[in-house]
Amino acid sequence: MPSPVSGEADRRPPGSVRLVDAQRDVAAELDRLAPVLDALGARFDTAGHELALVGGPVRDAMLGRRHNDLDFTTSARPDEIERLLAGWADATWDIGRAFGTIGSRKGPFQIEITTYRSESYDPTSRKPAVDFGDSLEGDLGRRDFTVNAMAVRVPSRDFVDPYGGVLDLGHGLLRTPNRPEDSFSDDPLRMMRAARFAAQLGFTVDPAVVAAMTSMAERIAIISAERVRDELTKLVLSPYPRLGLSLLVETGLAALVLPELPALILEKDEHHRHKDVYEHTLTVLEQSIDLEDRLGGPDFVSRFAALMHDIGKPRTRRFMGDGTVTFHHHDVVGAKLTRKRMQALKFSGDDIDAVARLVELHLRFHGYGSGQWTDSAVRRYVRDAGDQLARLHVLTRADCTTRNQRKAERLRQTYDDLEERIARLSEQEEMASIRPDLDGTQIMEILDIPPGREVGEAYRFLLELRLDDGPASYDVAKAALLAWWAARD
Ligand code: ATP
Ligand code: MG
Repeated sequence: MPSPVSGEADRRPPGSVRLVDAQRDVAAELDRLAPVLDALGARFDTAGHELALVGGPVRDAMLGRRHNDLDFTTSARPDEIERLLAGWADATWDIGRAFGTIGSRKGPFQIEITTYRSESYDPTSRKPAVDFGDSLEGDLGRRDFTVNAMAVRVPSRDFVDPYGGVLDLGHGLLRTPNRPEDSFSDDPLRMMRAARFAAQLGFTVDPAVVAAMTSMAERIAIISAERVRDELTKLVLSPYPRLGLSLLVETGLAALVLPELPALILEKDEHHRHKDVYEHTLTVLEQSIDLEDRLGGPDFVSRFAALMHDIGKPRTRRFMGDGTVTFHHHDVVGAKLTRKRMQALKFSGDDIDAVARLVELHLRFHGYGSGQWTDSAVRRYVRDAGDQLARLHVLTRADCTTRNQRKAERLRQTYDDLEERIARLSEQEEMASIRPDLDGTQIMEILDIPPGREVGEAYRFLLELRLDDGPASYDVAKAALLAWWAARD
């Protein structure tokens, strides 16, 4: 289990970017993309249209990150874009003709080309009203942040940065091209995007943007749950989720989209007898990220479970007469609240089941003491975790934020021991798919009864027996079944 301070160095956001590095990185990236940029640029140019690489790929090129999702913006209208792609792209499809976006693929590149926009939102409606625009500068002014409002015209490779995106990138700063209040009024989702990009890029958010987010937070209500969910998911999966989450909490946005998180900031009782659950939660999230190699890389379910694992605490807190504080059943209550919140945010049923199960089981290990669990208890742990077992290992290990090194080490060893026992038992039996030693047909044969309620009861009896004692032969199981049947009435 990592100590609370370990890994902090890796978690420190980059803060700023050296512009000489950015310049070199962009040049290298444009050369790599030359086959696309030159060919596509020439086609549009010949037809009398402007075309420019824009947004994410330009920003990421400056950060030395390359990817094959290329966004372009153009003076051409959607029908014209399609016509110009025909005969060049490997495939072309309509992403949102009404919004001016055509998608295509060329070799390894996913390409999205969007007509210049000058978009304005009706503040009371969820539906954007799209107006096509006529200049690159105008299009860039409608974008969310200056670092996303840079473009490279093709085929000329002229760099266009009317809002000082390069400087902001150099300072690691998120600013809106124009007044943040106007930008967020046009599209309140941009407030969530500010938190998401802060978390992805490790950037600071301009104080004017934070102020606008704070005063306009409740405007997020007009945005659909699906769009909020998608930004939240990207934030949680980012390298610096603490940055984005703190910003959501600080501005009051979290109180609207994920109220269970700020609710963890419990007013401490006068003796400071229990730790700040909110701070603990962010640390558990970071520690679970440190253990993600076990899961094969960034994992939303694991991270979200870390974030939600203690949300049952505020509701279950009781001050006892002897001066202690308890949170009885906060695992069960937390799992229920997790379901509710994830349903409201329109997460998939599978994600909801997985996260809720992890929240519900996050305390189970603590009954393990120094390893006195019976084989039966170990089997039940594995069976109840089901396909979430690897994530439960991560969550339980991460859920130790004590500053007492010796205590942390002891917990780590105890968990190592549990994992070893699981491995040993697994070698002998298929624990995750435990079934009784006899099936329904055999039960009916042995007891000579027809299908019905009694078969189900017998099945459950044999399952309990199987969990308690491990696998048994047919004869032993049959004898136990008959003894249970005889003793039954
Ligand atoms: P990623 O695709 O990795 O999530 P990205 O920067 O490409 O990151 P997208 O959400 O794909 O972000 O958006 C592409 C570009 O479109 C952004 O860089 C930004 O310029 C612009 N954009 C997207 N959504 C908005 C919005 N709601 N308001 C203003 N501009 C936006
Ligand atoms: Mg994108």
